[in-house]
Amino acid sequence: MAKGFMELRPAAEVLELFTRFTPLTRVERLPLAEAVGRVTAEELRAAEPVPAFARSLMDGFAVRAREVAAARETSPQVLELAGEVRMGQPPPGPLPPGQAMAIPTGGMLPEGADAVVMVEHTRPLGGSAVEICRAVASGEHVLQAGQDVPGGGLLMPAGHALSPLDLGALLTAGLTHARVHARPRVAVLSTGDELVEPGAPVGPGQVRDTNALTLAAQVRAWGGEPEVLPRSGDVYAELLQAAQAGLARADVLLLSGGSSVGVRDHTARVLAALGPPGLLVSGVALAPGKPTLVADAGGRPALGLPGHPVSSFVVFQVLVGPLLDRLGGRARARLRPRVRGRLTQNLPGAAGRDTYVRVRLAEDPEGVRVVPVRGDSAVYSSLLGCDGLACIPAAREGLAEGDEVEVELLR
Ligand code: AMP
Ligand code: MG
Repeated sequence: MAKGFMELRPAAEVLELFTRFTPLTRVERLPLAEAVGRVTAEELRAAEPVPAFARSLMDGFAVRAREVAAARETSPQVLELAGEVRMGQPPPGPLPPGQAMAIPTGGMLPEGADAVVMVEHTRPLGGSAVEICRAVASGEHVLQAGQDVPGGGLLMPAGHALSPLDLGALLTAGLTHARVHARPRVAVLSTGDELVEPGAPVGPGQVRDTNALTLAAQVRAWGGEPEVLPRSGDVYAELLQAAQAGLARADVLLLSGGSSVGVRDHTARVLAALGPPGLLVSGVALAPGKPTLVADAGGRPALGLPGHPVSSFVVFQVLVGPLLDRLGGRARARLRPRVRGRLTQNLPGAAGRDTYVRVRLAEDPEGVRVVPVRGDSAVYSSLLGCDGLACIPAAREGLAEGDEVEVELLR
């Protein structure tokens, strides 16, 4: 086995490599309210036209436009009143010629009418007639049946994540359920002889296993369904068996720890044994995150993530999240909210690697200031209170105070 990471693969290349994994085909049919956050597995089309009938866009009077074509403020047109349209009910009848019908915003246009005159452009004449003080064009202040969405019209393509924003339009068009992609199932397995359960007392030399639950939380945040497996010691056979058991039930395996090149680091050998084809990438040009391994376990992705909590977190954000987006059926990776701001100090980058820096943001009249948070990737507190990650691309040696940088928001 290779000693050390001789050939670091750029993160962009690793993301490209993920296209070898086919999106999952499991789908489920959910009530729309439960489908928010999920990815559509079919085109969603309007069950009915929206609106289902011609509706008024204003409070006013339904008229025949040609009958009020000559109406002016100085020479109003007098129309007899043919009653009133009520909300949630059909009009009392068709609009007789030479008459107007009172109509509220959203009311159903009576047969015969083709426009609405705003109430502001009318004067009441004692209940049985109304003065129309302004002409309207045919169709004015009317939303025609199917004008918003025609019946059968495309509301949403497949591969689109449903947001609360989308929900109203789907419900309005008569939909109740949607077929969505199942969440990718992600087995999370941590390894390390020194690890103890969070909440347990730590003896000399021991540390709490924080990665398993943190990774599970990240999986959930990216739309996956985590399963945290019982932790494994740094024993090859034990780790291999745990990894195989995890993959038998999951779509993806995340193996945290043991991914480096120490004598008790077995992750690379385990991932190789999960093939064919097995290990594809040994080391990624990321800082933090160099000891990252990628394998293809008979069509399922299996990743070895660095044990350092900060590295593990960053590698998830940069590589695992987009992988879950792909497996979860998204037609394109999600948009990740970013802001631009100016660095408050010089920042060196790691030679030849994309360097991700934890930052806090502050706003002042000059704009957003980006304040790097110091700390080695072994220092978990450097993640506390961070607003985002800034990237110094591998091609640059570093960034200078005052340089504009883009920050991916993490909260
Ligand atoms: P490794 O990747 O196994 O070489 O671990 C690198 C460092 O991360 C060591 O200091 C480990 O103790 C620590 N570490 C490994 N796994 C975890 C974990 N699951 N939770 C917290 N720290 C870990
Ligand atoms: Mg270890």
